[in-house]
Amino acid sequence: MIITDTHAHIYSELFKDDRTQMMNRAISKGVSRFFVPAIDSSYTEAMLDIEKLFPKNVFLMMGLHPTSVKENYKEELANVKYWLDKRHFYGIGEIGIDLYWDKTFLRQQQDAFKTQIEWAKERNLPVIIHIRDSFDEVFEVLDDVKDDQLFGIFHCFTGTKIQAEKALSYQMKLGIGGVVTFKNGKIDQFLQEISIKHIVLESDAPYLAPAPHRGKKNESSYLPLVVDKLAQIYKLTPVEIAAITTQNSKDLFGI
Ligand SMILES: [Zn+2]
Repeated sequence: MIITDTHAHIYSELFKDDRTQMMNRAISKGVSRFFVPAIDSSYTEAMLDIEKLFPKNVFLMMGLHPTSVKENYKEELANVKYWLDKRHFYGIGEIGIDLYWDKTFLRQQQDAFKTQIEWAKERNLPVIIHIRDSFDEVFEVLDDVKDDQLFGIFHCFTGTKIQAEKALSYQMKLGIGGVVTFKNGKIDQFLQEISIKHIVLESDAPYLAPAPHRGKKNESSYLPLVVDKLAQIYKLTPVEIAAITTQNSKDLFGI
């Protein structure tokens, strides 16, 4: 069984004491493909380091996270561009809009989001979209840039069925992780009405651990708990869920 984690911050400082063991625990559970989103320039070196340690398992992405969009965001975008021109990445992310922590830089967040979508289109890469308290603002940008070239993932999807269907209309897949196991997570109520071909798995490690680890540090080795929950929802076996969502990730990332 091959499980694909399409969103894991395995370079996080929270793994500094057990990074190699954490990776091996996941691989021993079948989680052997890790797509790794960027945050900002302060993490680039750590991302490259873990790629070197697990070159067959780790697929890096590049982008500027909306919560890292501050006064200096043009410099940060220049760093993203520098790396995109220098070598291959498998996606642009995570990018998007986050109004939960701070609304001060909304205009800059919109600008950074649009700019990076253009870079993704030029390179035929998927976009990994981060949305927090910002569905309307994200849809506004996507309506502006929507075309055949636009595709990607709504990362950590936590919206309604209507928002899910709207996401699919932009050629997006839904990134499903620990939230689907939460008692009040809500998405488990309608997910069976969304075709499994639109679903990819993600841990968002070290955040959003699935039940029964909710609230603790998350790691990719817990992803089988999400697979089991989806197997219940879709009335498929865990092996089938793993195979279908891995194929979905291959269709999306081209590897
Ligand atoms: Zn993330």
